Amino acid sequence: MNLLFMGGAQAQATTLNNLWELQSKTSSINAGRASITSTTAYNEEMVENDVFKYYSNGEWKVSNSGKCVPVINPTTRKTQYKVQACNQEEVDNVIESARIAQKSWAKTPLWKRAELLHKVAAILKQHTKPIADCLVKEIAKPAKDALTEVVRSGDLVSYCAEEGIRVLGRGNYLVSDSFPGNERTKYCLTSKIPLGVVLAIPPFNYPVNLAVSKIAPALIAGNSLVLKPPTQGAVAALHMMHCFHLAGFPKGLISCVTGKGSEIGDFLTMHPGINCISFTGGDTGIAISKKAGMVPLQMELGGKDACIILEDSDLDLAASNIVKGGFSYSGQRCTAVKVVLVIESIADTLVKKVNEKIEKLTVGPPEDNCDITPVVTECSANFIESLVMDAKQKGAKFCQEYRREGNLIWPLLLDCVRSDMRIAWEEPFGPVLPVIRIDSVEEAIRHCNASNFGLQGCIFTKDINKAILISDAMEMGTVQINSAPARGPDHFPFQGLKDSGIGSQGITNSINMMTKVKSTVINLPAPSYTMG
Ligand code: NAP
Repeated sequence: MNLLFMGGAQAQATTLNNLWELQSKTSSINAGRASITSTTAYNEEMVENDVFKYYSNGEWKVSNSGKCVPVINPTTRKTQYKVQACNQEEVDNVIESARIAQKSWAKTPLWKRAELLHKVAAILKQHTKPIADCLVKEIAKPAKDALTEVVRSGDLVSYCAEEGIRVLGRGNYLVSDSFPGNERTKYCLTSKIPLGVVLAIPPFNYPVNLAVSKIAPALIAGNSLVLKPPTQGAVAALHMMHCFHLAGFPKGLISCVTGKGSEIGDFLTMHPGINCISFTGGDTGIAISKKAGMVPLQMELGGKDACIILEDSDLDLAASNIVKGGFSYSGQRCTAVKVVLVIESIADTLVKKVNEKIEKLTVGPPEDNCDITPVVTECSANFIESLVMDAKQKGAKFCQEYRREGNLIWPLLLDCVRSDMRIAWEEPFGPVLPVIRIDSVEEAIRHCNASNFGLQGCIFTKDINKAILISDAMEMGTVQINSAPARGPDHFPFQGLKDSGIGSQGITNSINMMTKVKSTVINLPAPSYTMG
């Protein structure tokens, strides 16, 4: 039996019998120069000639471009997988199927949409391991964090199904006489309607979680969705897509095209068939915003999250959060602590405590669950190094020796950083953290607000009143008090000011963003007042 193309209920029953596990096998993928033995489970139909297919109109397909894109393992720096390099015609086709499928999906009862999302959440959780294995190989995510990402994604999908029922299950009823000059002659009924075809483009660092954070709200709201996964992380995303396939979503409702963003990005983002773009990534998002037409945009872009440490703070708590916030997943998180602003009088003590914790971080391959693993690409490692060298030349104090092997960069704290150094402003996206010593809180706020980013920030102090005043003065989408910046829990609003983004995420906000309000007005022949 063709297991991949079974219908919804049948597919689910088989899934619950651990279909994927039955198909799991140790596969040897000869990919370019590298011959890799992978224990990652995949369905044979997803691969041809060692190249993963893309997913279009409910089927796995080989691109007729005849080209593929390598996914380089950041640890070995060799080709781990290959994915299809889709072309413009294929982009046109997925968008057309999405347009057609959306029309029927919008007529599918809300409870049924929610039911399918719950189903996919369960399937995702059953397939945590094979998806997490890809994250380890494609983006060098420590194994335990890779598992967490997939489990969290399943939870996000379930929560979104529930929240969709609540948010979309009710509309508004307005009467006209609340506005001056009107009698009660009009009743206005409003409801939330889908936008159409949503384009989702997540970044490499959370290719599964940041994909489902776009897919689930889009689908529950009655939209169809086209996913363009990051090249590093594309295979994890394709495995995730397979879970949607197994759940039995209608053909064409959800598709996944692969290829380099720089090559197919414009076809997608400027396509007239796209009705909404939800993008997470770096400066690319600014360029997309300028090129996209009149469609709603959700942009989650870069950050330079500042951590302000006041004299009365708990320095042990602050040091733990700086290390966790700055170095988790080797600093490759949008909400990583990216600059520490500490009052001079306590700076020596804080730096000492932070350094003691940095010494305990393990450095090595993601398979060993090391704290610090290779950064995603050589290009990224070179960029980080350029920031470090600039700081060195301008006199920053190195708390550790700078060390790099391939894409692996050892954790580094740079003390006495000044504002003429690039690292004071730019986002390294790596395990390198600058400390700026300041004389006053006002100086810290001035530094934060001079940044072109405004994602998150944090303040450490025991004085809650002071914390609130500082939080209000910081031009950031979110300010954390006594904890490092964080994106989650996934139902909290999440947004960036300035170059850090457009709109707000978080499950409820994403559902709302992927809908429009529609009104129906009932006009009465004469004013009518209940009990009047
Ligand atoms: P990126 O280089 O901007 O890429 C993001 C996505 O855009 C990838 O899927 C990429 O595909 C695609 N892309 C590239 N060029 C494109 C184009 N011209 N048109 C359309 N899509 C295009 O970012 P990244 O390196 O993956 O991620 C790191 C950045 O993301 C950091 O700046 C980080 O702060 C930010 N980030 C922000 C948040 C947030 O919530 N604010 C969360 C996570 C990460 P390819 O991989 O094929 O190039």
